Amino acid sequence: MPIRFDYHMHTRLSDGKNSHEEMVEEAIKKGFNEIGFSDHFCIKGPNSWAMEADGIPKMVSEIDAVQKKYDGKIRILFGIEVDYFPDKEDEIAQVLKQYSFDYVIGSVHFLDDWNYDSDSAHKRYTEFSNDYLYQWYFAELQKAASSGLFDTMAHPDLIKKFQVWPESAQNGLFRTTAEIFADAGVAFEVNTSGIDRPCGEFFPGKEFLTELFNADIPVTLGSDSHKAEQIGRYFNDAKTMLKELGYPNLVRYRKRERINEPL
Ligand SMILES: [Zn+2]
Ligand SMILES: [Zn+2]
Repeated sequence: MPIRFDYHMHTRLSDGKNSHEEMVEEAIKKGFNEIGFSDHFCIKGPNSWAMEADGIPKMVSEIDAVQKKYDGKIRILFGIEVDYFPDKEDEIAQVLKQYSFDYVIGSVHFLDDWNYDSDSAHKRYTEFSNDYLYQWYFAELQKAASSGLFDTMAHPDLIKKFQVWPESAQNGLFRTTAEIFADAGVAFEVNTSGIDRPCGEFFPGKEFLTELFNADIPVTLGSDSHKAEQIGRYFNDAKTMLKELGYPNLVRYRKRERINEPL
């Protein structure tokens, strides 16, 4: 039996709506064998949507409690979604090394101090061309991948979230980024939440995904659930897409080691 897993979900410890227990109950109901919690950790706080470093011990105890309670029913992993800042690499590393994560997801939600991911009113988008935003975003993503801090790169083309489509073809940028992922030894996730965002498609989109596949970058799956009912959203479509592209496996994690899971 294939192992069904979802590695990207948030609880009330960051910006999710449900408790750990509610998420676990729903995952079991949906037939998942393995889930990983990945609440936000942002070293530049405080933010209403993220934990600071002093919130992580609470996450450890919450996960420990559900692991004990649901032992034998579902495997529960200790992941985390970490905001990347190029000027904070050492501080982030200092925090992360204190814990025994199953995996660490790296995210670029900020360009300098602009949280473009939360700028749904488009306050600052109009200051830049979309091509410029792609260059900027992908430069940050490349630095994040190369930092050595992360196992998986989250929603790798999140810059398109609010329908920010490049004015010109970006295949070269996608290819370079995929090559940098390969050198860095990171995986990426197909983040299925994009379907429910204004962009209306998975992160990453087809063209970037093809470059990632061509560069042999391992792939995992995350729903980016902020509510229990979102667990595993659109996973069948994502798996079909990856199989058609030629991916033989997804990757799972245990203590930051990869495990191949046949698709
Ligand atoms: Zn994110
Ligand atoms: Zn997330």
